[in-house]
Amino acid sequence: MAISRSNISLQPARLAEWTQRLLPSPTALLESTVASYLREGRTVYRLGLGQPDFPTPERAKDSAIRAIHDDFTGYTDTAGILPLRQAISHALKRDMGLDYGPDEIVVSVGGKHALFNAICALCRPGDEVLIPVPYWVSFPEQVKFAGAKPVFVPTEASGGYKVSPELLAKRTNESTRLLILNQPNNPSGAVYNKQELAELAAFCRERDIWVISDEVYAAYAFSSEGFTSIASFPGMRERTVVINAVSKTYSMTGWRIGYSAAPAEVSEAMLLLQSHTTSNPSSIAQKAALTAIEGPQDDLETIRNRYIERRDILVEGVRRIRGLDCLKPEGAFYVWVDASFWIGRTLNGRTVGSMDELADILLKDAGVAVMPGTGFGSTRHLRLSYAVALPEMQGGLAAMEALLGLKG
Ligand code: GLU
Repeated sequence: MAISRSNISLQPARLAEWTQRLLPSPTALLESTVASYLREGRTVYRLGLGQPDFPTPERAKDSAIRAIHDDFTGYTDTAGILPLRQAISHALKRDMGLDYGPDEIVVSVGGKHALFNAICALCRPGDEVLIPVPYWVSFPEQVKFAGAKPVFVPTEASGGYKVSPELLAKRTNESTRLLILNQPNNPSGAVYNKQELAELAAFCRERDIWVISDEVYAAYAFSSEGFTSIASFPGMRERTVVINAVSKTYSMTGWRIGYSAAPAEVSEAMLLLQSHTTSNPSSIAQKAALTAIEGPQDDLETIRNRYIERRDILVEGVRRIRGLDCLKPEGAFYVWVDASFWIGRTLNGRTVGSMDELADILLKDAGVAVMPGTGFGSTRHLRLSYAVALPEMQGGLAAMEALLGLKG
């Protein structure tokens, strides 16, 4: 289904003004379409939603069960239980070399919620927010909801889909308040190296720009250099909000535990909002998250290697298919596929007018669920997820190959 305002029939006269400005989440829409196909008993190769197929670690499940039996089922601190915030503080030091105390950490209902709190805490009416393209689908909508203006910064495959100070400078003015940097990037898989980050950090300091650093895929950066947070550069800690979650790292998407680390004043503002909206995230899920973050992290290495193996197979498979091309992603679990060759061509008697239509044909005629690039800011790309078991991924590749053909 194409994502546009025409999908929504909300009446301006009866509802708040923001309902006229926001687009629905395309990931959520695709998921509900796929669910309906599966209910009908149809075969679907799920390369759409970023939903890890690995199970939640046993030790995290056990903690949640214990929490229920121990009646740990009441309200907690709005910011999350202290042991969890201490564990996050420790993990930020251990994994990223970042120094944030437990009072600077807020545990929220998933990374998306932490991001929403951060955007609402920082954006003032009229502020402009730099969003590198391609971007994750909820960034612009959350910025619009907060009354600020998303300003898109295009990137190219030739530059690894990364922004540089030069690219940012073209879109920066006195109203620029914030940069949303997401790396490893969803959807492109781009990961910034230390030198690139140092340059971006210098730019943000010079122009007095805040950074929201969305690091939910940090555990899945594949190069030997690993992952570096922009908050670790001099003068950046005081102007950065780090966002992370247990969702992707530990295959805990449904538990809804994300968190932020930010200077005390920003954390307080985020907490203020959270105290009047969701209160604390689930007490039970917090206990599970605590165990996941605290326990041995060896499993992550195994999962990282499985993702690398799948990435290589998917990239090779995509590059074989007629009219598809992609870079090799350096992190996360998506391949960002240039499928612009197909625009204006005919497939199974249908003219492909857009990426939404190509995705629709792939789903209806080949049973392959993919995300059209539209919601990520591109009219030329599809996003394929490899957070699915190898046989399903290979089935999806074979079905795409059968529909689109091989390169000549
Ligand atoms: N971040 C995942 C994705 O992009 C989950 C979907 C969502 O939360 O929007 O597929």
